[in-house]
Amino acid sequence: MGKIIAISNQKGGVGKSTTAINLSACLAEKEKNVLVVDVDPQGNTTSGLGIVKETVENSVYDVLIGEAKASEVIKETQIPHLSVIPATVDLAGAEIEMLSLSERETRLASQLTALRRKYDYIIIDCPPSLSILTLNALSAADSVLIPIQCEFYALEGLSQMLHTLDLVKERINPKLKIEGVLFTMHDARTNLSSDVMQNVREHLDAPIFETVIPRNVRLAEAPSYGQPINLYDASSTGAAAYRALADEILKGSKTNGSKKKWSWKRLGFIDS
Ligand code: ATP
Ligand code: MG
Repeated sequence: MGKIIAISNQKGGVGKSTTAINLSACLAEKEKNVLVVDVDPQGNTTSGLGIVKETVENSVYDVLIGEAKASEVIKETQIPHLSVIPATVDLAGAEIEMLSLSERETRLASQLTALRRKYDYIIIDCPPSLSILTLNALSAADSVLIPIQCEFYALEGLSQMLHTLDLVKERINPKLKIEGVLFTMHDARTNLSSDVMQNVREHLDAPIFETVIPRNVRLAEAPSYGQPINLYDASSTGAAAYRALADEILKGSKTNGSKKKWSWKRLGFIDS
């Protein structure tokens, strides 16, 4: 039975899509069968995996509004073992259209259940909001991976995120765990980056990945070639980091990921 991991943080630009693309590709490199589900209308994960959005006929939008089955909209990528349910800009309208539909928070969950047997991992990339699209991802997921950027403002809103996870756990998906918090875009040259990491490690009562993703220009370049990092530059520091993250995920869950409540003891200098 495959594991479903949602990659979520309502803050924008923290490395969600970069992580969805490259973690998935690194798991596929290890011969795991992986399905990526893009639920962000921006479709960055779709294009970053080499799918030209203009050529997509059916997408996750059709699945959410009940016009297609998930199995009918899966596209193969150029990477062996890696498939994707793409997102296009249509998805931006889904939120309003779904208002009139029943069970609107669990539509993705019910569609993905049937696919669990086919894949080892299903990775869902979320939009930067706590919208109905994100709720669908969190309802479908076994666990959530929360990327946070190693900078001051990136920590704002983390308590909101954890509160939302608590609510989803209480009301829709009692089995939801935190897979881990992932530090992204770490810049070894600045003290701030390391200070932020240290503060979070000291104060956040939730699992945190040992792997830290460095700021690496190759990771930023790869999407414009429609390639994950292990194709674009297999020997880059970014590729090494995402391989290490894949290894950590393969090793299994962190110890306190299934706690009833996760807490974020507010840092003195952060108002969130
Ligand atoms: P959104 O909230 O808009 O969906 P996101 O959380 O998915 O954003 P990404 O799109 O993955 O974030 O990353 C934001 C930007 O930072 C992109 O231009 C991406 O290429 C770049 N980026 C992400 N991770 C790294 C990294 N480790 N090193 C360098 N650049 C990075
Ligand atoms: Mg994104």
